[in-house]
Amino acid sequence: MSSSPHTIRFEGTPIPLVSGETVLDAMLRAGIDASYSCRSGACQTCLLRATSGSLTPASQRGLRDSLKRSGYFLACVCRPVDDMEISAQPPDDDVRARIANVERLASDVVLVTVETRAPFEYQAGQYVVLIRPDGLKRSYSITNVPGDARLEFHVKLMPGGRMSQWLIEPETIGAEVVVRGPAGECYHRANEPNYSLLLAGTGTGLGPLYGIACEAIRSGHKAPIHVFHAAGDAEGLYMHSRLSSLAAEVGNLHYHPVTRRDSGQPGFLSGNLEPLLVSQIEDVKSCRVYLCGNPDFVRAARRNLFQAGTPSTRIHADAFLTTAANAQ
Ligand SMILES: Cc1cc2nc3c(=O)[nH]c(=O)nc-3n(C[C@H](O)[C@H](O)[C@H](O)COP(=O)(O)OP(=O)(O)OC[C@H]3O[C@@H](n4cnc5c(N)ncnc54)[C@H](O)[C@@H]3O)c2cc1C
Repeated sequence: MSSSPHTIRFEGTPIPLVSGETVLDAMLRAGIDASYSCRSGACQTCLLRATSGSLTPASQRGLRDSLKRSGYFLACVCRPVDDMEISAQPPDDDVRARIANVERLASDVVLVTVETRAPFEYQAGQYVVLIRPDGLKRSYSITNVPGDARLEFHVKLMPGGRMSQWLIEPETIGAEVVVRGPAGECYHRANEPNYSLLLAGTGTGLGPLYGIACEAIRSGHKAPIHVFHAAGDAEGLYMHSRLSSLAAEVGNLHYHPVTRRDSGQPGFLSGNLEPLLVSQIEDVKSCRVYLCGNPDFVRAARRNLFQAGTPSTRIHADAFLTTAANAQ
């Protein structure tokens, strides 16, 4: 480990950097209980503010312009290029909220409803950082369409998961939380009614895609809307009856349930989702594509679709990276 010429100062505490180290790694090494989850700049839970020092574009990638202008950056991908003064001051537009309802959708998936205490603007499909009363932060994608002071999330219950298991404790109903955001490029583009939409997700990756599909239908989308939802087995397809009836009502919505092994059920596809996207959709080149959920699926599907001719500028993705995927 060679030392770096730079020092960061976190709320008054100086931390000399080791060469090539990120701000997050330096803070954890110094024993500071810093928030983080994905460690790759995707979840925004490690957001901090620099009051002096230079910020590289990489350390602010994906942040809203207002946050960038105020000196916010992501500690997990920030490798300082000079000395920095840093604080954990929250952004001005964090919104107070309460957990209003938690409802089972499947044995390991819940629908969480949060009521915000102030208007919260977002686009269908974006995600927020949910902050628990003790400060624990996790990202969740919004599954309902914009319009009222309610945000809904599909949350997978992870074994030993700190946030997801807390959400199903009875005393969590009514708990005060904070909503930070919105963020993410995986959102409905309003003025493209003639592009086919290809929405593909694994597990709770369906959440934001359902929001995008509902918003597209609401705004009169003309071209086909394909929703692929993949799970290990049929029980994991927790929106099957809702999506089946919606597809029966809306002529241009096509729902494709996918299980890993053949379920024997009519209309179900089986196998890996990523090759199915290319084999089932005639012209992926001209689709706008949204991919959400398991990071391995997102990576593989993005590559397959790009190789099949979909321009990268029309492929949007949120990989649901967790702490486990990045545990050291
Ligand atoms: C952009 C984005 C959007 C997301 N949207 C959603 C969404 O809509 N719905 C959803 O369900 N999830 C979503 N996620 C994932 C979500 O943010 C959380 O990571 C997830 O809910 C797990 O959080 P947790 O606190 O319950 O689990 P954690 O406490 O973070 O743990 C996750 C798992 O890792 C294990 N683990 C923890 N630490 C270690 C370790 N050191 N070594 C080995 N294993 C460990 C735990 O036992 C657990 O099984 C999203 C993630 C991102 C980046």
